[in-house]
Amino acid sequence: MYTILDINFQNTPKTIGCILIKAPSGENIIIDPGPHSCLATLQAALSKENLVLGDIHKVLLTHVHLDHAGASWAFAEAGASIFVHPVAAPYIENPQKLLASATRIYQDRMQELWGEVRPISGEKIKTITNGQLFNLGDGQNLLSVYTPGHTKHHISFWQGKTLFAGDALGVKIGDGGVVPPCPPPDLEVDVWIETLEQIKKSMPEKIVLTHFGESTMAPGHHILAMQTALSAALGMVVQGNKQKLEHVKLLKEFEGFYEKLAKTSAAYPVINPPYMSLSGLERFIKVRDIH
Ligand SMILES: [Zn+2]
Repeated sequence: MYTILDINFQNTPKTIGCILIKAPSGENIIIDPGPHSCLATLQAALSKENLVLGDIHKVLLTHVHLDHAGASWAFAEAGASIFVHPVAAPYIENPQKLLASATRIYQDRMQELWGEVRPISGEKIKTITNGQLFNLGDGQNLLSVYTPGHTKHHISFWQGKTLFAGDALGVKIGDGGVVPPCPPPDLEVDVWIETLEQIKKSMPEKIVLTHFGESTMAPGHHILAMQTALSAALGMVVQGNKQKLEHVKLLKEFEGFYEKLAKTSAAYPVINPPYMSLSGLERFIKVRDIH
């Protein structure tokens, strides 16, 4: 079993949910502890579970974007091991590159959004790729699955037929629609579409997203909605590029598209600002020379 801890990012509920697993073996595991700016809220949520920081044995990271992994160092300093894809291990051991990349997107809002980011000692970092089994005791386990596209190093986790998907299956908040988060710098839309095909083959019974929680859609519909939205987002940017549309105009169009996808909830742009996804897609088509 698992618990979703809402860490109320930017005072907005249902933006970031950390997964807490109290394993029958006695181990406590967190998937994606969220940013350091929300650590106090996370600690308050943990204390309701009668846990303190030092009671967490393992932190599993779907990827190292700061809204997922920013607080990892605090858990490492309190004794936890941090599990991450080998490609991303250097980014948390020495976060300079990660911070530089995030600063290009968020500029002077870095501190307010993410708080502090400290390096994690190499001995606390364990690398995981596809197919790593975490024994939870009592016949239960977690299984890692490599799900690249959103980033080159994205990992999701199966618990039975439940998929903890990080960002691999997009953002879906409450009754809103599925919106693809496409930040720079290493977004690969084609790889992501292939990942979605792979996930479909072992169709989950339940999808759990970092943004936010259990999807209210049937998993097949959810994945299809994600594929459609991702392709449409890319198509819009390619088209805009082809027409040499002014950036302000394209951004307006793109914002309208993301708003339509999201339908109801105002929480979407808090965690997935359209300008960020637009710049990720623009970078992707430039790197791949798509026109
Ligand atoms: Zn991300």
